[in-house]
This record gives sequence, structure tokens and C-alpha cells, in this order.
Amino acid sequence: MQTMAEEAKGPIEHNPKILSGPVLANSPNAFLSKSVLTRYNDLPIPKDNILATYIWIDGTGEHVRCKDRTVNFVPKTPKDLPIWNFDGSSTGQADRKNADTYLIPQAIYKDPFRRGNHILVMCDTYTYKMQPTESNHRIKCQEAYDQCKDEEPWFGIEQEYILLDADLRPFGWPPGGCPPPQGPYYCGVGANKVFARDLVEAHYRCCLYAGIPISGTNAEAMPSQWEFQVGPSLGVNGGDDLWVARYILHRLAEEFGVIVSFDPKPVKDWNGSGAHMNFSTKTMRAENGIEEIERAIDKLSKAHMKHIKVYDPRGGKDNERRLTGLHETASINDFSAGVANRGCSIRIPRSVAFEKRGYFEDRRPASNCDPYAVINALIRTCILNE
Ligand code: ADP
Ligand code: MN
Ligand code: MN
Ligand code: MN
Repeated sequence: MQTMAEEAKGPIEHNPKILSGPVLANSPNAFLSKSVLTRYNDLPIPKDNILATYIWIDGTGEHVRCKDRTVNFVPKTPKDLPIWNFDGSSTGQADRKNADTYLIPQAIYKDPFRRGNHILVMCDTYTYKMQPTESNHRIKCQEAYDQCKDEEPWFGIEQEYILLDADLRPFGWPPGGCPPPQGPYYCGVGANKVFARDLVEAHYRCCLYAGIPISGTNAEAMPSQWEFQVGPSLGVNGGDDLWVARYILHRLAEEFGVIVSFDPKPVKDWNGSGAHMNFSTKTMRAENGIEEIERAIDKLSKAHMKHIKVYDPRGGKDNERRLTGLHETASINDFSAGVANRGCSIRIPRSVAFEKRGYFEDRRPASNCDPYAVINALIRTCILNE
């Protein structure tokens, strides 16, 4: 049997964004500190002290930040929790003179790290004048959803990502080169096909514990590339669920000593990472819903570029690297739709065509998209006819 290193084709052409800048990652000593931590994890703390991790999207529109606080009650709804603030000048969300930026709690999840009554709190962000910050797409998404609640729009997101080692190369790849070409890795089994399944398994369980409806997970086309599926979630909840699932993944990866990248095209000539958005409304799920699905696709065909602009955090620039027409994607410049066709912008699953009802898959969103922006665009184009 050939080993990966023998068969390796190198060198790798990385996305420079991943490799540029100083390499900053955990030292191997980080593992030592984890074993020390277990000595303190079961220290009793006052019963009414609830630790709340406030999570928000920073000024890049792509990365999450968090900070913790103690509250002395168990909140029933996000409104019970205090509004908080942070230094927006350190996150690209405010200038130094007016740095205070507000965090408004919007969704509560159980904390799989601390457990007990401790919680994760997804927040959105507001300027010192209480205006939504530029990267706050949640508010528009909430407003869109509020206008179409009768249609009960469901969103199921397939989040693809890759893991990087501390040197910021794809985790487990042979030194100086690439693994053998893609083919055996997708849904692969075996230590020469998939890496870090432990992390994936832990993430699956943490999300379910937290209250995030993960519907499945699988290894992807590139070694160390994985996918998990969230949903179907109702309206704006799809965004909350995905962002907190991303937070949990980053946070778990810290413990395993690897790094998560949601870059949509981490390595040239290999499959990129997407965030396929599966979407349905009450009408689409009802008998003969296929007609409504076809109407929605027709509307999307007329708004292609408008959607491309909000399907990654850089107005389409990130997706330009990924939506090439190769590697199971459609070209960024063309709109196409088809049954069971994974080279189209929109795919109608075979079972949906057969049953004449169900949902469709928008394959365009990049892995680093803001799901609030994608959900917002789909609701406004397909349901609200904007
Ligand atoms: P693929 O075949 O494209 O890899 P997956 O099985 O990975 O598909 O993902 C399917 C996604 O579709 C899941 O996130 C699931 O929650 C979602 N989904 C299933 N039914 C619906 C529906 N009626 N409306 C919206 N999303 C749905
Ligand atoms: Mn999938
Ligand atoms: Mn996939
Ligand atoms: Mn898919």
C-alpha cells in the first residue's frame, strides 16, 4: 500500500489569506493546560451563578467573538438577559472615540462546555446610537421573517469547512505536499481517508445538547474537509442555529489543538467549501408544491447577481474563487437549475421532483456566508416579491 506521503503531489497552492500573516496558533503546551483545567471544572460555585457566554459577529461579518458574564437567575427568554456592550473599536465595529457597541441577546442555547444551567447567548450588535452595525444582518432577516410567518419558511444549511493544523496547513496533509487526488475521501472511512472524526463526533453531540437541530454530518471531498447540516430551522432561527454551531466548532477545535477554516476555496484545484441553503415554504411542502418551487426558481433566476452579492461577506469576491463551474459548482456568472444536478445554482432533489412537493437547494452560498443575509434574501425574493 502506498502511503500518502509517497503518493503526495505537491506543493499546495493555498489561499494566501489563510497562510499570510504571522502564524499564530496554540503551542503543544496547550494540551498540558487542558489537563490542569479538569482539576477545577468541578469546583462548586454559588448555585445562583449562571455563566453566560455572549456571542456576536464581528466587523468582518465572518468571524465570531465572545465574552462571558455572570447572571444570578435562569433566563427564560433572551429579553430577560441584560443588554451588554463591548469595545467595537477592537472588532472593526466602531471608532475609538465612540467605541461602546451594544450586544442585544437574541437566542439562548445550553452551554455544552460548562453544562448545568450555563448558557450560550447569540447576540446582534448596535452602535452607540442604537443603530444596527454594518455587519448586523440579523435585524433585516428578522423583519423579513416577521412579514411571512404564515408561510413558515424552513431553512436547512449544509455547512462545509476544513480543519487546519497549528502551521495553518490542512490538518493531516503530508509534509510539503498534497494527498492523493480526491475521490476516496467524501463520506470516507479509514484513517488514511478521514482525519479528526473525534472532533466531528464531539461537535455533533455538543450541538444537539445545546439545542441546535443538527440533522446530519459527513466527511467531504478533500481530506480534513467536513460538513454538518443544521435544520430545518424556522426563519431567522436558521441563522442563530448556524452561528452558534460555528461558535461551538471553533471552541471545540481549540481544545483539540486544530483550527477551523470557513474559507470557501482553501486549496486550489480541490473542492471548495459551501453552505448550501435548503429552503421550503408551507406552500412548497403541500400537495403540488413543486409549482411554487418553480415559481421561486423563476424569481431567483431574475435576481441572480443580487443574491451573489450577499452570499459571501465580500460581495461575491470570495465566491469568485469557488464558483468556477468546476468541482461541483455552477459558474458565478450564470444562473441554472436542475433536478439532481450538482453542477447547477439550484438543485431540486430527485425525491422532491418525484413527490411534486418539498424543498429546493440553493448551492451558491459560500461556507463563510452570513446565514442571516442569505435567509433574508431568499425570503424577500421568493416570498415577499421584492
Ligand atoms: P445533499 O444531498 O445536498 O448533500 P444534505 O443531506 O447534506 O443534502 O442536506 C439536506 C438539508 O436539507 C439538511 O440541512 C436538511 O435539514 C434540509 N432539509 C430537509 N428537508 C427540508 C425542507 N423541507 N425545507 C428546508 N430544508 C430541508
Ligand atoms: Mn450535504
Ligand atoms: Mn457537501
Ligand atoms: Mn448540498
